[in-house]
Amino acid sequence: MAPILGRVFDIQRFSIHDGPGIRTTVFLKGCSLRCVWCHNPEGIDRERHLSFVARNCIGCGYCFRVCPNQVHVMDSEKGHLLRREKCEVCGACAEECYAKALELVGRDVTVEDALAEVMRDQPFYETSGGGLTLSGGEPLAQIDFTEALLRAAKEAGLHCAVETCGHAPFRAFKRVLPYVDLYLYDIKETDERRHEEYTGAPNGVIFENLRALHDAGAAILLRLPIVPGLNDRDDHFENVARLMRSLPRLRGAEIMPYHRLGTSKRERMGLASVGDAIYETPSKEAVAGWVEALRRRGVAVINEG
Ligand code: SF4
Ligand code: SF4
Repeated sequence: MAPILGRVFDIQRFSIHDGPGIRTTVFLKGCSLRCVWCHNPEGIDRERHLSFVARNCIGCGYCFRVCPNQVHVMDSEKGHLLRREKCEVCGACAEECYAKALELVGRDVTVEDALAEVMRDQPFYETSGGGLTLSGGEPLAQIDFTEALLRAAKEAGLHCAVETCGHAPFRAFKRVLPYVDLYLYDIKETDERRHEEYTGAPNGVIFENLRALHDAGAAILLRLPIVPGLNDRDDHFENVARLMRSLPRLRGAEIMPYHRLGTSKRERMGLASVGDAIYETPSKEAVAGWVEALRRRGVAVINEG
């Protein structure tokens, strides 16, 4: 039987923000949402991307020689440019680029290989109460791999967390339910019209899945990406508080303040901008104000302050 493959864009060791303790986070490619503030734009599509960081280029010229499509060109004023419309993302140039100016983003891994990478830090998980987190992209969008990796990790005794946008068929949640110790569940926007505007999809199924998971006894921590000028509104905070009152076994909520990491990633990978630059990076005071606004409404916010 052919092995189950997962397409990942990163396996990040020593994560301390993706669940309890020290963790390894496996980032899977592919997501059905298109959030305008996405900080992992390389996770949206299943296809691989060619990343180019011009400042790392040492001008060795290998990429010019190996590319079958003449994607790499030297401009007398702008220097090394990529004609991305001709690129087939074959990876030949990235393989030759020892300076790591060029890198292929997205690789296929087997469950065994992914688990072996995760198990390298098992002693740290034991001492810190950490484990494995699947993130993305949307892990449930690659349900066969996600289910198989979670099952294998559980058999290996690991604590397993899944970070999800909630936009998936509930049958996918059911398949992973026995193996997940904690869901980090995104609530991006409580207003349906705005949710569709900001993410490209309505939020009804996200709330239905949340309620069904809650009723099935799952441990769930809400994650609230907050973007200045978009969803830092009183009515959104009020709706989050109402939602949490209606689901009393939720573990609390964590505010994920907007940051601009996605902008540089888009530039490196030649991905179309989705308006990222128009948002302000929130100040510490602004974040503290959001925390306070939610706590005042009875929400157990786990952010410090
Ligand atoms: S192979 Fe890498 S370092 Fe060499 S010219 Fe191409 S991008 Fe620059
Ligand atoms: S990935 Fe392949 S087609 Fe694209 S620039 Fe590199 S060598 Fe050329």
